[in-house]
Amino acid sequence: MTERCQVAIIGAGPAGLALGHMLHLQGIDSVILERQSESHVRSRVRAGVLEQTTVDLLTDIGVAERLRREALVHNGFYLRFDRTTHHLDFHRHSGRHAYVYGQAEVVADLIDARKATGRPLIFDADDVTIADIDTDRPVVEYTDVDGRRRRIEAEAVAGCDGSHGVSRTMMPSDTRILVRSHPFAWLGILAHTRPVTEEGMYSAHPDGLSVHSMRGPRLSRQYLQVPAETDLDAWTDERIWRELRRRSQSDDHPPLETGEIIEKSLAPLRSVVTDRMQTGSLYLLGDAAHIVPPTGAKGLNLAISDACALSYALGRRHRTGDRSALTSYTDTVLPRIWQAQSFSWRLTSVLHRFGEDPYDWELRRARLTRWTQSPSEQQALGEVYLGLPFPTPWRFDG
Ligand SMILES: Cc1cc2nc3c(=O)[nH]c(=O)nc-3n(C[C@H](O)[C@H](O)[C@H](O)COP(=O)(O)OP(=O)(O)OC[C@H]3O[C@@H](n4cnc5c(N)ncnc54)[C@H](O)[C@@H]3O)c2cc1C
Repeated sequence: MTERCQVAIIGAGPAGLALGHMLHLQGIDSVILERQSESHVRSRVRAGVLEQTTVDLLTDIGVAERLRREALVHNGFYLRFDRTTHHLDFHRHSGRHAYVYGQAEVVADLIDARKATGRPLIFDADDVTIADIDTDRPVVEYTDVDGRRRRIEAEAVAGCDGSHGVSRTMMPSDTRILVRSHPFAWLGILAHTRPVTEEGMYSAHPDGLSVHSMRGPRLSRQYLQVPAETDLDAWTDERIWRELRRRSQSDDHPPLETGEIIEKSLAPLRSVVTDRMQTGSLYLLGDAAHIVPPTGAKGLNLAISDACALSYALGRRHRTGDRSALTSYTDTVLPRIWQAQSFSWRLTSVLHRFGEDPYDWELRRARLTRWTQSPSEQQALGEVYLGLPFPTPWRFDG
């Protein structure tokens, strides 16, 4: 059985769902195919910090009502080193904020918005394949939840299926994929405890980073830098709390509160950029094309920024037949992606322990001191942390 639509979107993460909604608002139809079940997608704990730029976009497209009510509004973040806590207040320099609102909540809001439009959002879509992308009639096939093979003919395919999806495998073999692997991972927990500071905190300790963020007044999200080959089972709850407490000790705050751990994960840190994000009628968005280490909290925000640019380009073609913004999609989005890579690398390299050399720790400490003392350094960090402008508007209004 063959269906027709303008855009076939693969993946119902932030990139795919946001793109689907922006296209809907421009009168462009799409089908969103998701490999996982709806409950799995709604409950996946991942990112949690939204740039002001992302929140402005979500507001503009009408999906931020709950976010505006429930998100924690932050001015910057805390830095702790040498047992002393410092606040970097980026709001002071820009009047802008960061918003703490879990990725699962963003995704839930976007799923609800999609359902309200009545446009197709298909979960449990198995064995998705893409063909004919060198034509204007690309074909996407999948097996539905009842085991039937389905076929969709589209005008464009948006590959929003993350770093393990099928879309990125369709890129030509000469596509450059630039990778930097880091020798460590983040062991993450979600716990029923009060966050240690009012806004997220990075604690740079000579033995490694600990990160203390929050999802609510009694729900904390915390991370430990651990070696890349760490076995999660070797980390009991007691060991995790002991290490988090040790790395975050200070002379100006009470010790970290401990409590019930409700989720544990291990995420390797890596940086990846596919420097060609389109081929024929297939376009890559979000994690399908690039990964940033979580240190800078940029991944989800970049996914939304790519969706914005592709929405504009497809809107332009839809309204005028002009393909120029589609043709230049990669060139439009890559500069912002590299700014985010550069920011994430800067934070990653200063906050993490890379080896035994004491010279390395002194260099990092010198950099951390500048960040706490220099208003111009803070302004530069804040510009990117709170969100550089998106490369295009989301809607073509010409
Ligand atoms: C521990 C951690 C902390 C993070 N913290 C932050 C943060 O604070 N701020 C931030 O901005 N980012 C953060 N990130 C990154 C962020 O979560 C990702 O960058 C974001 O999810 C990317 O969105 P996406 O839509 O591109 O991809 P995804 O969210 O990965 O969505 C892809 C979707 O495609 C589906 N899919 C995959 N393959 C197929 C297929 N073959 N067919 C159909 N569907 C398929 C997947 O099931 C998934 O639903 C963090 C990530 C981790 C792991």
